[in-house]
Amino acid sequence: MLRSVLLAASRSPRIERLATHAPVARSVVRRFVAGVTAADALRAAGELVAQGLTVTLAYLGEDARDPEQAAAARDEYLRLVAALTEAQLTPVAELSLKLSALGLRLDEQLAYDHAAAVCAAATAAGTAVTLDMEDHTVTDAICEIHTKLRQDHPDTGITLQAYLRRTEADCRDLADPGARVRLCKGAYAEPESVAYQTRLEVDKSYVRCLNILMAGEGYPMLATHDPRLIAIGEDRARWFDRSPEELEFQMLYGVRPAEQLRLAEEGYPVRVYVPYGTQWYAYLMRRLAERPANLAFLGRALRSRT
Ligand SMILES: Cc1cc2nc3c(=O)[nH]c(=O)nc-3n(C[C@H](O)[C@H](O)[C@H](O)COP(=O)(O)OP(=O)(O)OC[C@H]3O[C@@H](n4cnc5c(N)ncnc54)[C@H](O)[C@@H]3O)c2cc1C
Repeated sequence: MLRSVLLAASRSPRIERLATHAPVARSVVRRFVAGVTAADALRAAGELVAQGLTVTLAYLGEDARDPEQAAAARDEYLRLVAALTEAQLTPVAELSLKLSALGLRLDEQLAYDHAAAVCAAATAAGTAVTLDMEDHTVTDAICEIHTKLRQDHPDTGITLQAYLRRTEADCRDLADPGARVRLCKGAYAEPESVAYQTRLEVDKSYVRCLNILMAGEGYPMLATHDPRLIAIGEDRARWFDRSPEELEFQMLYGVRPAEQLRLAEEGYPVRVYVPYGTQWYAYLMRRLAERPANLAFLGRALRSRT
């Protein structure tokens, strides 16, 4: 119930305007977002890399409203690749892209062209891009663009969401050599017609998808903070005889940092998703929706300012 309210709020421009101008926001945002500028993101990335982690950087923003916004998001990513190269942070730093920020809801060809430009820059810099997965109305379009991008940039990864009923089939399609699939539970409010609704169903789907990816020939990227799923991931790695370098764990900036280090110490590549930018509102609301305890954190921040 609370999750649905927060996820509905994540789509409200009115609440977004109120929240982004509230003085309290900054301290809460800081826990989950590396900062406003690319320089902030690079600083956070450098600190994580120094601890033996790898990173994927994401410029926050979604649902470009016009072609100018979409082009501006592409240009930010191109500048980011240049800055990563300059800071010698490739290949440990990759990029995560939301196609809706590149114009997917305006024109699929436009989003493809912008994503192809970012992938080309990433390839030239010796790194790679992973596509984030958004709500189910664009899943097909994202999968299609991913297939096209892989023709020229085979390292391009995609995110699949275990809560979607279709995902086991998508995992089967993407278990080929070289396929890079980030498996997460899914962060949007989705109807029962397309998505499992209970935690148990989602977790069971995650394990079925994990088994398919681990048995396949691709490179599974297990994006979860769930201790049970992490333990199952480690178990399946042994079962399917994968060495630690043949998969990776991924977690979000600010979530379970001690676990990130523990897994890295065990020899697994661990990639931290590092978001930055001013358009943090929808991202933050999804983080609050995932864990009601984060609302207490928000409450403490509010009280400390009154
Ligand atoms: C690298 C990465 C990329 C992602 N990309 C996408 C994407 O493209 N599309 C998409 O729909 N979703 C994406 N997600 C989000 C994902 O779908 C889940 O919503 C999120 O990871 C929470 O699920 P969980 O597997 O951690 O399990 P949960 O059951 O939600 O959490 C398990 C435990 O992890 C900790 N935890 C989880 N979330 C939080 C939080 N926000 N704050 C504090 N503690 C927390 C808590 O201890 C919790 O008990 C991504 C997640 C990661 C890690």
